[in-house]
Amino acid sequence: MVSRVIPVDPFDLVIFGGTGDLARRKILPGLFRRYCAGQMPEDARITGAARSDLDDDGYRAFVAEAIREFGGGRACEDGTLEQFLQRLGYVTVDAKGEAGWAELRARVRPGLVRAFYFSVAPSLFGDLAERLRQFDLATDQCRIVVEKPFGHDLASARTLNATLARHFDESQIYRIDHYLGKETVQNLMAVRFGNMLFEPLWNAQYVDHIQITVAETVGVGGRGSYYDKSGAMRDMVQNHLMQLLCLIAMEPPARFEPDSVRDEKLKVIRALDPVDWHHVVRGQYEPDGDQPGYREDAENPRSTTESFVALKCHISNWRWAGTPFYLRTGKRLRARASEIAVVFKDAPHSIFGSEAGRHRNVLSIRLQPNEGITLGVTIKEPGPGGMRLIDVPLDMSFADALGPDAADVPDAYERLIMDVIRGNQTLFMRGDEVEAAWAWTDPLIAGWETRGDVPKPYDTGSSGPDDSLMLMHRDGRKWREIRP
Ligand code: NAP
Repeated sequence: MVSRVIPVDPFDLVIFGGTGDLARRKILPGLFRRYCAGQMPEDARITGAARSDLDDDGYRAFVAEAIREFGGGRACEDGTLEQFLQRLGYVTVDAKGEAGWAELRARVRPGLVRAFYFSVAPSLFGDLAERLRQFDLATDQCRIVVEKPFGHDLASARTLNATLARHFDESQIYRIDHYLGKETVQNLMAVRFGNMLFEPLWNAQYVDHIQITVAETVGVGGRGSYYDKSGAMRDMVQNHLMQLLCLIAMEPPARFEPDSVRDEKLKVIRALDPVDWHHVVRGQYEPDGDQPGYREDAENPRSTTESFVALKCHISNWRWAGTPFYLRTGKRLRARASEIAVVFKDAPHSIFGSEAGRHRNVLSIRLQPNEGITLGVTIKEPGPGGMRLIDVPLDMSFADALGPDAADVPDAYERLIMDVIRGNQTLFMRGDEVEAAWAWTDPLIAGWETRGDVPKPYDTGSSGPDDSLMLMHRDGRKWREIRP
């Protein structure tokens, strides 16, 4: 099964922050893989832009190094890398100054798709937007790609939206959430809306609860002082987990088109009840051997920022009234694993008697690692000895289903950048969605501050604080194991 690659139109892509960590690890290697896959036309051009004093050749050497280090794909050896590098250039530009902008203006070509990737600190987004207009680089058709975090709270997100709106129409703004670019996340929509099987059961009548877990094994070391101003709620829940929640809970959009999908996601966020603070558990990881604890990593011995959060929330609409959604995310947990699990209700009556035990169907959507979808079904345990039931997985792992082609499935950044070039905003967040998500998280965060809430300690390699397990136990439920 070979994936069909449709080349995009010729384009000029300018990466502001083209020498930064994100560009080096994700954006540039991703673009190279799209080149190798044949998706990038010959006259595509990519220009790095930052303050560092580099020329085109210096930047090409920098990019070649990044591609070698962070996954260049299979074609690295046969000269493809050299061909790709010829599409690259560099301009020294200061977002806050005047230098370099005229040169950049001279580099971009008229009449082509034009995209500007803001891979810089959010404090520079406004400056970049302004300079693009001032130096006549922005056209009515050009696109800007804006990285996370999109604001720190509702007020700052509104200010940022207003700043960008002064220079660009909403249809030109691509707010990236790389979770939406993951193959399985889109597959979630394919499973829900491409099959007759699931959608009739996708509601409070048949679904007992939904769990969303995004677990990481890494701590915040290296970016501790940045993270300490943010915390798991702002860094993960407000954006990534919220987006997953929207996709799992939304009504079927009329079409797979940007505003159809985004309207439905927005309705979910607006239907979320305020979270009862008794239904939230925050945690901080403890030191482990010679590994520092959260407070050491954050260089803040009194920090009350959470590196873990678990919460229960409800969506007040006809589809989901009464079905709890449990969300959890954290650092330094047992395994790196992200999963959405739809746990269905028990069959209304067991004809097999109590000895058969309790069995539930679970649809598990694994985002990482080993992207895939598994449906747990109940069958008879093989062999003699009466009717004993066991749960077995119906497994649809991409690696199995697609064979060698699974390696060609574009990663999230690759896919999203190509969507920018195509002008498809379906998998990008709209300004009102982002604001609605902050409007939901802000009161919760403010409540912690008012109450002087202190996160519970948890061990490295655990599933988070015990209280997070209790959050489920109290409801007669339990979290699924965090498994690699
Ligand atoms: P970074 O490593 O600090 O890179 C920042 C980039 O901005 C550098 O290329 C820097 O180059 C450039 N820059 C700084 N000041 C500038 C100025 N005044 N004018 C022009 N360029 C300037 O940051 P990053 O980790 O790549 O992150 C970039 C953005 O992506 C941030 O918004 C971050 O929140 C977001 N993000 C990053 C990751 C990640 O994994 N790294 C993940 C998700 C989101 P010079 O110093 O040469 O100017």
